[in-house]
Amino acid sequence: MATISDNLQQVQQRIAQACVRHGRQPGAVQLLAVSKTWDAAAVQQAAQAGQRAFGENYVQEGVDKIATLRQQGWAALQWHCIGPVQSNKTRAVAEHFDWVHSLDRHKIAQRLSEQRPTQLPPLQACIQVNVDGGANKAGVAPADAGALLQALAGLPGLRLRGLMCIPEPAPDESSACVVFGRARALFESLRAQLPPEQHGGWDTLSMGMSADLEAAIACGSTLVRVGSAIFGQRSYATSA
Ligand SMILES: *Cc1c(COP(=O)(O)O)cnc(C)c1O
Repeated sequence: MATISDNLQQVQQRIAQACVRHGRQPGAVQLLAVSKTWDAAAVQQAAQAGQRAFGENYVQEGVDKIATLRQQGWAALQWHCIGPVQSNKTRAVAEHFDWVHSLDRHKIAQRLSEQRPTQLPPLQACIQVNVDGGANKAGVAPADAGALLQALAGLPGLRLRGLMCIPEPAPDESSACVVFGRARALFESLRAQLPPEQHGGWDTLSMGMSADLEAAIACGSTLVRVGSAIFGQRSYATSA
């Protein structure tokens, strides 16, 4: 049976090959290992294999895992909150995570900024965009992303880094690219709205998962969020 370490190597290889194929610099695409529903032992195996950045969807599950891993001596891991954040969970996110990818409401962003402990660096943040317009989906509509960015730009506890999207699965790479390409175009046009000194910090396009990371990399993703290809198929029974 393939181990987490084998799987990680394979995913790194897929990323590297996609970078070569699409003329991206090696190292231009970061791998976020999505460990939701997997226990601390699985995270530890990935960390032992060299993985440092982990993504969690459920805030309490993530906070518990972060604490366990710290107790085990893994203090230098980077934790990304990639799931929806309710207002009663903002403090936990602000106090324990390094990144949040799912900003889509001003009020939540404001709370995260206020509750970010001042001894920590600002919370690194992406605005989630509903690029394919699913009716029940999280994320701000593309047309409203600019206004949200303007509203969030001055929050001292956040550092705005880019966009995140989770499009519906596409039947093939070229149809995936239509949607990912829209996210890329929006990402570039929003950069132009920022003051020039902030252009360099607007550097993260979080898109691509186990099934479509090649298409996302072809379209300019800088960070792929990969769960099942590393840890195996999830059983959702444990999700909280
Ligand atoms: C679960 C999840 C992933 C990982 O999905 P896989 O298909 O297992 O790679 C990525 N991003 C988000 C927001 C998720 O919820």
